[in-house]
Amino acid sequence: MRNVVLLGSTGSIGTSTLKVARDLPGEIRLAALAAGRRVDRLAEQALAVRPEAVCIYDPSQADALRRRLPKEIEVLSGMEGLIRLAEWPSADIVLIAIVGTAGLRPALAAIRAGKDIAVASKEILVMAGEIVTEEARRHGVNILAVDSEHSAIFQCLEGRDPASVRRLWLTASGGPFRNTPKEEFPSITVERALRHPSWSMGRKITIDSATLFNKGLEMIEARWLFNVGMDRIRVVVHPQSVIHSMVEFVDGAFLAQLSTPDMCLPIQYALTYPRRVPNSRVTTDLARIGSLTFEEPDTERFPALELARWAGTAGGGLPAVLNAANEAAVDAFCRGALSFPGITEIVRAVMEAYRPAPHADLDQILAADAWAREEAARRIRAAAETAR
Ligand code: NDP
Ligand code: MG
Repeated sequence: MRNVVLLGSTGSIGTSTLKVARDLPGEIRLAALAAGRRVDRLAEQALAVRPEAVCIYDPSQADALRRRLPKEIEVLSGMEGLIRLAEWPSADIVLIAIVGTAGLRPALAAIRAGKDIAVASKEILVMAGEIVTEEARRHGVNILAVDSEHSAIFQCLEGRDPASVRRLWLTASGGPFRNTPKEEFPSITVERALRHPSWSMGRKITIDSATLFNKGLEMIEARWLFNVGMDRIRVVVHPQSVIHSMVEFVDGAFLAQLSTPDMCLPIQYALTYPRRVPNSRVTTDLARIGSLTFEEPDTERFPALELARWAGTAGGGLPAVLNAANEAAVDAFCRGALSFPGITEIVRAVMEAYRPAPHADLDQILAADAWAREEAARRIRAAAETAR
């Protein structure tokens, strides 16, 4: 039985995790749940799951939550509450599925408390992958990938000598604009960008899948999770999203992991690792799928991949800058304050303006993150004024 603390329970990954826990009552017990501000959904989940504790990040909602739950369920709030859940005594593993970077401090707290972490929030590995993986090594805890591509690579690598790996191949669906000509990009609306062809996910990651920043972030995520140089990480477009990623070995062999696109499978594997536990939720009919195809990514229409390669290769604070500028730009796009191609333009401009600090410790990385958000906001405002 694994006791799981789930941070980000009300989101897309969180909801899938609740399904997996319901499927496997003898394997997974949800010890605590946390959300940002959707208190109604969190209360409903807590009444169904009966965890030991819950945390709502927005402190002004804590009393409302407390009134709706029985006394046995402890109600916490704020970053302090998230960190207490991350260190929760009965927890074996902490699943971080908070959108953005708010999961970074809880992730480090969990590691220092000797808990394994399952990471959906790729942003924290992009931002501070070196620090998070180094802390995990020092404390002897596992980092389990929840992101489907990284779960696939983890499954293919299982127990193999790292020296036997030539390259890691991340597959990308290509997003909703895979075949859209570049001239149409300025007129892309939020609604169109939110219509993903193969995955149903939260808002931020769906926009990232349309710009291919999601794949860019995943390249840097892979760099840290598997400790390989950026030059050995490749992307291939695979519109069916059935092959979740591949490992190419030095003798020329490829191993791949295949299944219907459904996050319940990588979530389950992260929470039951190293065992494979029977569950019929995800089934795959290859004959019905018919064909699997592959294409070279178009880096001219989707510069996000090259920007991520640059950030991942340079390291230091630059990946945090890319991630933070992208978050600010996606937010502005969703508010109607920035065009779709504007997202990539803002990220590039902020990266170009960044003056790296000599030594990227956690404080420097957090400073780079804060600087990039401000710089992006300033440039977004300036772009809006010019357009007016
Ligand atoms: P959603 O937007 O659907 O959900 C985000 C979750 O984070 C919600 O539960 C939200 O709570 C919570 N949250 C936001 N801010 C805070 C905070 N400060 N403290 C505590 N909780 C907070 O996102 P997804 O589930 O799609 O994605 C979550 C993470 O997983 C992202 O990093 C994404 O990149 C990654 N991921 C997602 C995949 C997917 O298929 N969805 C696939 C691979 C990775 P509330 O509801 O209260 O706002
Ligand atoms: Mg992914």
